[in-house]
Amino acid sequence: MNFSGKVSLVTGASQGIGEAIATELAGCGAEVVLVDVQEEKLKEVANRIKQAKGSASFYKADISVLEQVQKTVEEVLEKHHKIDHLVNNAGITRDNLLLRMKEEEWTAVLDVNLKGVFNLSKAIIRHMMGNRYGRIVNISSVVGLMGNPGQTNYAASKAGVIGFTKALAREVASRGITVNAVAPGYITTPMTETLPEAIKNNFIDLIPVRRFGTPEEVAQTVKFLLRDEAAYITGQVINVNGGLYM
Ligand code: NAP
Repeated sequence: MNFSGKVSLVTGASQGIGEAIATELAGCGAEVVLVDVQEEKLKEVANRIKQAKGSASFYKADISVLEQVQKTVEEVLEKHHKIDHLVNNAGITRDNLLLRMKEEEWTAVLDVNLKGVFNLSKAIIRHMMGNRYGRIVNISSVVGLMGNPGQTNYAASKAGVIGFTKALAREVASRGITVNAVAPGYITTPMTETLPEAIKNNFIDLIPVRRFGTPEEVAQTVKFLLRDEAAYITGQVINVNGGLYM
């Protein structure tokens, strides 16, 4: 697959799924723009990509803050003159049963996982519409489709991402822009590695493929949706979950 000449902005790119997506796209020739709150890790990922002869730049920004996002997008457009691919990947969890959930836990998750997607899309969409080309992939979650106890905030944010994806897909389809969601199941990343072994094994019992997925498996699906040839796929949710939810 050849993405040379394409500029791909990936949020949450300093580790986990975002790092795998950025690495994969750079390997296909895209100029990747890495955005995250973890500056040191961003630098390390960008260096690894460059050592592998890829092209990467990085920007520290909190995606939940519209002004920071706008400033970042302006700088990226000044440097690269365009953004072809937007991968809204950054996300957080603040798990608690609703009975104990604090307002801050609700707000933090909705601000990053849902408002962050709004902020990036809002900052970039006018540019993509002007170019009459764009690919947006939003990372949702199996939890947004099937729910999970202790994650009312996270499930609401990820279900919200799916609604956002479908509405925006309808708004911009006639401008050559596709908007899709990828809903991973349980993937081995820093986000899930803190789960106790017993809980991980309980999940594995429920997954027909009998293992957690890898970040690279999610990255392959994102890459598929970003191709020029995926022009007729929009408003879809692609599950990458080992059969956990069908
Ligand atoms: P991860 O390892 O925690 O990586 C997410 C990255 O995003 C981290 O570097 C994180 O920084 C960063 N980030 C957090 N808040 C941010 C903000 N406000 N602005 C910019 N960057 C921010 O997560 P992951 O497992 O790779 O997950 C990536 C995406 O996939 C998330 O949207 C997640 O909800 C979704 N997902 C993951 C799984 C899974 O099993 N892993 C399953 C379904 C969906 P900090 O470390 O400082 O927070």
